[in-house]
Amino acid sequence: MHTDILIIGAGAAGLLAARTLARAGRQVVLIEGRNRLGGRIHTSTDGGFSYPMEGGAEFLHGEVPLTRQLLQEAGIACHDTAGLNYEVADGQAQPAESFFDDMPLLLEKLHALSEDKVLADFLDQYFSGDAHRAMREQVTRFAEGYDAADAQRVSAFALRDEWSGNGAEDSPRPEGGYSRLMEWLAQEAQQAGAQLLLNTIVEEIRWQPGSVHCRCANGSALTAARALLTVPLGVWQAERGQPGYLALEPELPKHRAAARALGFGPVIKVLLEFDTPLWQEATVALTQPLPELGFLFSDAPIPTWWSQLPDPRPVLTGWLAGPAAHQRRLTPEADLLREALSSLAYLLGTTPEFLRKQLRAHRIVNWAADPLAGGAYAYATLDAATHRATLSSSVAGTLFIAGEGVYDGPHIGTVEAAFASGAEAARQLLQ
Ligand SMILES: Cc1cc2nc3c(=O)[nH]c(=O)nc-3n(C[C@H](O)[C@H](O)[C@H](O)COP(=O)(O)OP(=O)(O)OC[C@H]3O[C@@H](n4cnc5c(N)ncnc54)[C@H](O)[C@@H]3O)c2cc1C
Repeated sequence: MHTDILIIGAGAAGLLAARTLARAGRQVVLIEGRNRLGGRIHTSTDGGFSYPMEGGAEFLHGEVPLTRQLLQEAGIACHDTAGLNYEVADGQAQPAESFFDDMPLLLEKLHALSEDKVLADFLDQYFSGDAHRAMREQVTRFAEGYDAADAQRVSAFALRDEWSGNGAEDSPRPEGGYSRLMEWLAQEAQQAGAQLLLNTIVEEIRWQPGSVHCRCANGSALTAARALLTVPLGVWQAERGQPGYLALEPELPKHRAAARALGFGPVIKVLLEFDTPLWQEATVALTQPLPELGFLFSDAPIPTWWSQLPDPRPVLTGWLAGPAAHQRRLTPEADLLREALSSLAYLLGTTPEFLRKQLRAHRIVNWAADPLAGGAYAYATLDAATHRATLSSSVAGTLFIAGEGVYDGPHIGTVEAAFASGAEAARQLLQ
């Protein structure tokens, strides 16, 4: 098959680019390695759930203008989150009022920093000693948990900018799940003439100026005048011989090196459905209820949990990110489930057996072990802007690169970043 523009990857970036280019009259083929659209957006009832659950992206973080505009165009409403925030440390649960009390001091030191350094070095320099141990741990846990970052690699300047923002923003969810937006975009792109091929993993791209040849795992071959690669950073970072590795011939050594210098954090999401919202009330078997649970942050092995409030459905999501998720990337799902249930038992003052008896459905989504993702989302390392600029630079007017991982702006690691990057790549391709 031959086309004018071949787009590799039908996630948010690829789908938006496909719609834009097809609407502008370009001949577009969009190829996707999975048997579904959406990439790191994956709403489904897999695992026997009674409700559609988000295996990947779930919230709108902050303003996100492009995402909101597309949701509005698609007629998909958003719902604010609700419920109480809890903190559990040393087995004791209490309402969590703020991220942490030392934030003003932390920000003061971060703003006084004249040169960027990694978080771990910054904390060692300004908050060393036993007096600051708890604070160092809390800050590290937050960067690792929320940004999926490695404290030994994440930029202190990037965290300063993120934490200086308005933390009071709500994080709504798209009604019915993010995948509805992906399906709508795919439909729009196809109506405009784009062709979509699923189950087509590109293993090798041979290129020369004005010509691209893709060899695919299913034996098919595709050629195009130009290609837009929207594969995740984890795919760029894979080494030859590793699952997900995408060969380029000739190789792009500067692009590959830039990708490897960037941060791409792992996440394991644990989705659990129970017979009832058993965390709401104390019983003989459950001594630490968490009524109206919205979000929970803790010192448990699977530390972060949330409900779907204001939707009362009896489901909980557990979240493990950063180095702790990396360590468990090869852990069998049965062991991850066991660890999740024992974390939750600790948080609720009950036993894993009690929880297991009432478990109706479960699903473990291990993004670090997914060869077509290689992780969950990007975080900023030192000199990230330079590396992103290198990775996103087009090659000989023939190869173009987009996706969440090359986005440079305030919405790093989000669906918004993917959309913005896809829109920018489409603009370049139309020039
Ligand atoms: C657990 C998790 C939670 C998240 N939470 C949020 C959130 O709450 N809010 C938010 O805004 N963002 C969130 N994100 C981030 C958001 O999901 C991503 O930034 C965004 O979806 C990325 O879109 P993309 O198009 O850049 O990449 P992807 O969605 O990864 O799309 C790239 C596509 O390329 C395909 N592909 C890869 N290699 C090949 C190949 N060789 N051949 C063919 N196809 C290939 C992949 O299968 C994939 O479909 C989360 C991500 C994860 C994983």
